[in-house]
Amino acid sequence: MSIVRHEGLQQITCDSCPAAFGETYADEDFGQMIADVKAARWLVRPVNAAAAARNDRSTQDLFGSAPRIAGGKAQQKFTHTCPACAKAARDQRGSLI
Ligand SMILES: [Zn+2]
Repeated sequence: MSIVRHEGLQQITCDSCPAAFGETYADEDFGQMIADVKAARWLVRPVNAAAAARNDRSTQDLFGSAPRIAGGKAQQKFTHTCPACAKAARDQRGSLI
């Protein structure tokens, strides 16, 4: 879950931890929301197609019946990462030697 909607408002949450950006926005303020989270050093990145395919929860190829749609996550086109997780990922990359 990356963008949560509730009663006409939306909020960005981190894909790697329970953190949420501290502001909520009306649907028409989507562009402002993205600009604000980027300004707060959140990472907003397109999901690459290969990773998105691995997250497909369809069982049609296994069982040949109708694909499962109930309870599936809506496909997100972007990932959102809070500054703390982004920093942790950066630190981890440099720690192998
Ligand atoms: Zn996070």
